Amino acid sequence: MTLTYGSLEVITGSMFCGKTEELIRRLRRATIAKQKVQVFKPAIDNRYAYSKVMSHSGADYQALPVNSSQEILDNLEPDVTVVGIDEAQFFDDGIVDVANQLADLGMRVIVTGLDTDFRGEPFGCMPVMTAKADKVDKLAAICMVCGEPATRTQRLVNGKPANYNDPIVIVGASEMYEARCRRHHEVPRD
Ligand SMILES: [Zn+2]
Repeated sequence: MTLTYGSLEVITGSMFCGKTEELIRRLRRATIAKQKVQVFKPAIDNRYAYSKVMSHSGADYQALPVNSSQEILDNLEPDVTVVGIDEAQFFDDGIVDVANQLADLGMRVIVTGLDTDFRGEPFGCMPVMTAKADKVDKLAAICMVCGEPATRTQRLVNGKPANYNDPIVIVGASEMYEARCRRHHEVPRD
């Protein structure tokens, strides 16, 4: 397959906005178009299945779990024309350079990632990744409180909104996440 101009596409938004669903849709279409596709995910994301990216609605696509952005370069197969990278916010900062490097080589790179964390703060590499992208789609979920479009991820610890200063892992606590609109996104501070 002859490479055309490369590009970097970012699909972002809160949890439950359908980022991975949209990634899988684009990957399937690329496969139908006879592109050679390879997909990477951070090894820390053990949700659902280990060697797949999987949407909340159950769609999936084969993916290689890697421990660092460098491992994407190390494991890239020959003749790949489309590269998918899921959950980019969990990668090291080198992921932005890796994605741009592949796009500069002529590949179509499609990246998903959370734009903000549960506090509503920019998440990891995503602000820079988004700035460097050729195309950005910011999807909205549905607010679990009012049904309006949701752009935020609500973290609940033992059923109550998590505090801004709560640690990322709280041992023994029951935790869950919901999509919320700006009005219903609650982040109490001490
Ligand atoms: Zn709401």
